Amino acid sequence: MRVVLLGPPGAGKGTQAQIIAGKLGVPAVSTGDIFRANVSGQTELGQKAKTYMDAGDLVPDEITVAMVRDRLAESDATGGFLLDGFPRTIAQAEQLRESLADLGHGLDRVLELVVDEDELVRRLSGRRMLVDGQMVQRDDDKPETVRHRLQVYREQTAPLSGFYEAEGLLSRIDAIGEVEEVTARAVDALGSVDGDEPSAG
Ligand code: AMP
Repeated sequence: MRVVLLGPPGAGKGTQAQIIAGKLGVPAVSTGDIFRANVSGQTELGQKAKTYMDAGDLVPDEITVAMVRDRLAESDATGGFLLDGFPRTIAQAEQLRESLADLGHGLDRVLELVVDEDELVRRLSGRRMLVDGQMVQRDDDKPETVRHRLQVYREQTAPLSGFYEAEGLLSRIDAIGEVEEVTARAVDALGSVDGDEPSAG
């Protein structure tokens, strides 16, 4: 199954992506994680991405799209994947559609995690991650950067909701509640996809 997980920063995409991908038996591909690994590994890609990430801006499409295309060509992703954090612009979505079409595939479903903005700010300012055995705040989770990332989301990524709705691919999921409750809603939405196959006649 080929699935995109859409939603603002702080909606719980990373957590849900891991769980849902595990249930589907496909790899979770997180562009944010790939960028962060490249930043800590001080690769050329990491150096290019870092300035944008620190500012809470999107890394330019050409860098991101090429990186995702390479990742999806790896053998574990040829049978399916769950994308977390990509696409984030209409241009990225169009490029993804083209790359998949070249391989004779398309997306099966887009899940949008819906959380209101007050809750997002609350979650992001309290969020910590484990680095070298210590719980630290991500540089781009600092309050001023959080506000900017939410604005970037509203302006550049939120339009994807309508884009995928028009394609009949979108399921909106209430992402407030316990992790397991949100997973159950997502799995429900994916389960109904089997019945969505175009009819044979
Ligand atoms: P995330 O972990 O998904 O919140 O991503 C962290 C940061 O990585 C973002 O704020 C962007 O700077 C960058 N990033 C991740 N995914 C993308 C993408 N699809 N397009 C552009 N930049 C991205």
